[in-house]
Amino acid sequence: MNILVINCGSSSLKFQLINSENEETIAKGICERIGITGSQLIYAAAGKDKIITEKPMDDHLIATKMVLSALTDPVNGVLKSLNEIGAVGHRLVHGGEKFNKSALITEDVIRATEECNELAPLHNPANLTGVLACRELMPETPMVGVFDTAFHQSMPEKAYLYGIPYEYYEMYKVRRYGFHGTSHAYVSRHSAEYYQAKVDNSRPFEDLKIIVCHLGNGASVTAVKNGRSIDTSMGLTPLEGLIMGTRSGDIDPAIIEFLSHKENKTIEEITAVLNKKSGVVGLQGGGSSDFRDITSDYLAGKPEAARAMKAYVYRIAKYIGAYTAAMNGVDIICFTAGIGENNSIVRGEVCEYLGYLGITIDNAANDIKGEDIIISTADSKVTVMSVPTDEELMIARDTRALVM
Ligand code: AMP
Repeated sequence: MNILVINCGSSSLKFQLINSENEETIAKGICERIGITGSQLIYAAAGKDKIITEKPMDDHLIATKMVLSALTDPVNGVLKSLNEIGAVGHRLVHGGEKFNKSALITEDVIRATEECNELAPLHNPANLTGVLACRELMPETPMVGVFDTAFHQSMPEKAYLYGIPYEYYEMYKVRRYGFHGTSHAYVSRHSAEYYQAKVDNSRPFEDLKIIVCHLGNGASVTAVKNGRSIDTSMGLTPLEGLIMGTRSGDIDPAIIEFLSHKENKTIEEITAVLNKKSGVVGLQGGGSSDFRDITSDYLAGKPEAARAMKAYVYRIAKYIGAYTAAMNGVDIICFTAGIGENNSIVRGEVCEYLGYLGITIDNAANDIKGEDIIISTADSKVTVMSVPTDEELMIARDTRALVM
């Protein structure tokens, strides 16, 4: 069965068509700048060059139409007709407490997702535009929603509650939800399989203690014990936790009031600074959020890059320590996403903090990028590895499981 995976952002629509039998990608691409000037579709069939079509796209419905036309185009398309798409899997960011697993999309599921919009006002409404567009254009094709928050619904109360009046949880559902759940679910399972193949095949996933560090533009760490997320670094929103590209991660909440007075800014304006001008960008005093730039500046001895790099790495090491304590041990530490898969400086410096766990790093292995690789030495007490994430494949797998 061919599954179309759709990931709608506020002004973008990423798609991937996956053959769910052999799990190969048939075509993929992105519509960029939807609703703004300069919109374009970038489309690539497997093994072929990218095709860029510049065309105004006023909304996600028009963008979805363009994607479906590209997939069925007589010259460059990969399908004869839309009937060859067996199901559509949608990435949905926030499922609140309503969804602890993926769900076949029905009117009730759409309504329940809409009820979570206030918890993710930038993401959920955009995600749902993709659902509505596909429903209009392919009304007979089953659709599945795969929630970023679902994997973390297994967190115990002691991990998800904030130390604030309980009534705020009861009235407004203010609690920690966590994000990147699709990635953490995929990577934790895959890292366990890789561990079984390379280290110890007697330990099932359900028996392992795994810490997954998803280090991309957004970044989060998750503790996975007995196959379930028991704690994760993001919270009510994706602002909590690690220092990220432009997000602050954990701060003293009193900073918001303090800065609002000092800078004569509203709470909303300060929150925007914490989301968009903080993290490694803020720490460098501006500049790039891309770790390729930060790493080369760091290696060139630029102090602002060193400041950002050191704080970034230190925060990750602190979370690994905390989650090792939460699980009373750790078997696998796994790095993933753009930085985790490719940046050997970040991985190496994080591991320098982990000698107390009996971890030693194989520097030659740590230089390998973008593939499954164990970067700890054979005598290391904990296995450290890097595994590429694949959220689209995870969405396709969940979609297939629900529609078959
Ligand atoms: P993501 O959000 O997962 O796409 O990750 C974005 C981050 O990953 C950026 O800071 C990039 O510097 C880093 N990144 C992505 N691809 C590479 C690569 N091939 N080599 C080094 N860094 C990369």
